[in-house]
This record gives sequence, C-alpha cells and structure tokens, in this order.
Amino acid sequence: MIEENTSPGLITTHLFQSLNEISLIALQAKEIDPSLEEIMRFVRTIFIFDNVVLYLQQGDNLLEPAYARAVGRGRSSEMDLAWGEAVAQDSLRENKIITRKEIDGDYTVNRMRLRYFIGLPLTTSEEQIGSLVFVRYGGPPYQSDQMQLAKHIARNVTQLLARLNLYKKIINLENELRSKRLQDDFIATISHELLTPLGFIKGYATTLLRDDTTWDDETRSEFLNIIDEETDRLRELIDNLLDSSRLQSGTLRMEFQPLRLDTLLKDVCLRARSFNENQDIELIIENSGVQVQADPRRIAQVIENLLNNAQKYAPGSKVVITLIKFEENNAHIILQDFGPGIAPDHLEHIFDRFYRVPINVSSIRGTGLGLFICRRIMKAHNGEINVESTLGEGSIFHIFLPIKQSNNNLVGNIHQLDGGE
Ligand code: ADP
Repeated sequence: MIEENTSPGLITTHLFQSLNEISLIALQAKEIDPSLEEIMRFVRTIFIFDNVVLYLQQGDNLLEPAYARAVGRGRSSEMDLAWGEAVAQDSLRENKIITRKEIDGDYTVNRMRLRYFIGLPLTTSEEQIGSLVFVRYGGPPYQSDQMQLAKHIARNVTQLLARLNLYKKIINLENELRSKRLQDDFIATISHELLTPLGFIKGYATTLLRDDTTWDDETRSEFLNIIDEETDRLRELIDNLLDSSRLQSGTLRMEFQPLRLDTLLKDVCLRARSFNENQDIELIIENSGVQVQADPRRIAQVIENLLNNAQKYAPGSKVVITLIKFEENNAHIILQDFGPGIAPDHLEHIFDRFYRVPINVSSIRGTGLGLFICRRIMKAHNGEINVESTLGEGSIFHIFLPIKQSNNNLVGNIHQLDGGE
C-alpha cells in the first residue's frame, strides 16, 4: 500500500525508496501499460500532477498518445482535460525539458483554467521515443528540484520503453530469421519432394520403353503401379502447394453445406482402411447426428491428413477417432495415436507453414504444409485444431467445429483469411 507523502520532513527516505521502486519497475517491465500504471502510483507520492500523458513517436513528427491518466483535479472534471500535445511536440523537437503556463479564462473562479505543463523528451542516443507530459491545474509551478525529479522519472520511462522496443526488435528479428530459414529449407525440401516421384516415374517409364528387353506381365504391372502411385503423390504435392498459397492469400473457395460429422468420419475411415489395410483405425461416435455447416471435402482433407501423418510418424500405432459434442455448440473430433509423440519445443511450431520436426526431415517424405493447411481450413470454418503430445506416448489432435453457424458468418470469415500466421 502506498501512502501519499509530500511532507518535506519525511521526504528524503520516502523519495529514495520511491525512486528506487520506479527504477526497479522500469528495469523489470514486460508491458508498457501495467508498468507505467505502477510507476505513476509511486510518482504520485513524490511529484504533484493532475494529468500525465505518454506520447510515442509514430513515424515522422507524429506523436500519438499511448498512455494517459487523470489522477487529481482533472479526474472529476466535466470539462475537456488538457493533455499538452503542443508541449510534447516542442520538447521532443528541441530535445529538452519545456515548462509552460497556460491561462484559459478566469482561473480565480475555476483553477482548472490555469495549467502548468512540463514536457520531457524521451530520447536515447539511438532513437527518439516520444515525450512525457505532466499537467498541474492551478499550480504550483515547477521549481528546479521538481524539474530534476521529473527528469529522473522521464529517464526511467525512457529506459523502460527502449528496453521493450529492443525486446520487440529481437522477437521480430528472430521471427524473420525463422521464416527465412523455413523458406530456404522449403525450397530444398520441395525440390527433393518433387524430384523424387518424378525420378521414379521417369525411371520406370524409360525402363518399360526399352526395346532391348521384354517384361513379363507381372513386372510390367508392378512398374506401372509404381508410376501410378508416384503420379498420385506428385499430384497431391502440387495440390498441397496450391491449397497452401490460396489459403495464404484468402482465395481458396469453400463450399459450405449442412454436414453430419458421423457420416463423414465413417466415409473417411472406410476410404483410409481400403487404401491402407495395415492401419488400425477405431472410430467411436459418442454423439451421433452432430451437424455442422462445413465444406465436406475440406473437413475430410483435414482428417485424412491427420491419418496420413499418423501412418508416417506413428507407424504401426492404432489410431482412435472419437466424435463428441463439446459444450452444446461445438463438435469435437479427437484423433489419437500411440506413436513416438512430438517434443514440446516442436509442438508449438508444427502448424507453421513448412515446419517439419528436424528428426523426420531426411527419413520421411513431407513438406511441412499438411498441418498448416489443416489449421487454415479449420479457421475458415470458425473452428480450431490443436494438439497435445507426450514423448513416448503419442499425440492427440483436437478439432472443434461450431455446431450452429450461419452461412453468412462463414463466408465473411473466409474473406478475412489474408496474410500469414
Ligand atoms: P509433413 O508431414 O509434410 O512434414 P505436416 O505439416 O503434416 O507436414 O506435419 C508437420 C510435422 O509435424 C511433421 O514433419 C512431423 O514431424 C510432425 N507430426 C505430425 N503429425 C505427427 C504425429 N502424429 N506424430 C508425430 N509427429 C507428427
């Protein structure tokens, strides 16, 4: 609990304590608003003010208020408060403390017509961050010791903002680096992924066309099957690339219609079992008749992608798909495998475009687009997909789809799908 204390006798210890606290908050701040709020609570006990405003430089010569508080007389006032924008501009432009007195009518009747401003530039050797302005209604004017105090407060606020700016820059830089690395990896991966099936197709076709050898029917059929499978693979890859870029630009068309999820899941499982007899899939429908407004082809694509991943990354594991109703308005599909699982470091990235867990990169074919596409498709449905995983135990993917959804909402949502994650 902080007590207001401006009595000269007690001021020294209290002043030191408060200045110390202010520096500490500035040093440990993680966000602007709550930290400034805390700093101002201490400032109030050592420095008189009615209003305080933090202006931040946004582009050339443009100052925007980023934080403002009226704590004294201003708080209960009916009239427009004074926020000292001109003082902020001048102090930043001239890079010095500026005090200004403003009289706006008869201040003997209303003290708020007499205003004392102090503008403090917030600058470092590298950047101009903004200005801090304090306003006092009716006085007292700022004396030189008060100006020193204000300067100290401003120095701390500058430090806080410069540190948070630096932090933001580091995060941005890390993201840029990561996305650049992912793109470089992607070009290498995609070239490899496209060239591998192409190599098979070309190799087996050329072999079959050789006129110096004759092939028996069984061998011919085996080669043709490989060509057929690799062509499918190539097609799937190109489809994935196209989907991904259309989802990224918001131009992928979806055809929404009423869809019974139990029927869709049964169909998908039937198809998956017929493609791969070895994959053990159990389907549990806890709530039948759950209906959503969705594009059946795209929802099937999501489930098929998860099944395909389970086959690639959790080979030999059983997959359990469960459909339940979640909190009245949501359908919840759970897809669980009992494979090696995904390490926590990678878990938060597996839905990113082109992201692949490094250990799988060389041994298992893939592009890192599948889960990115799944998440985007779910978003277009106002739904969600996420994952939990434990190393050595397996992974559980959760899909949520809103049960009652109007067509208009969904169409609107697709148009908003612009830009990257
Ligand atoms: P791709 O399979 O083309 O690499 P995805 O986007 O489908 O791309 O998956 C991203 C990564 O997530 C995969 O590279 C894999 O490492 C990991 N992953 C996905 N599903 C599973 C799973 N069921 N078990 C373990 N790892 C998985």
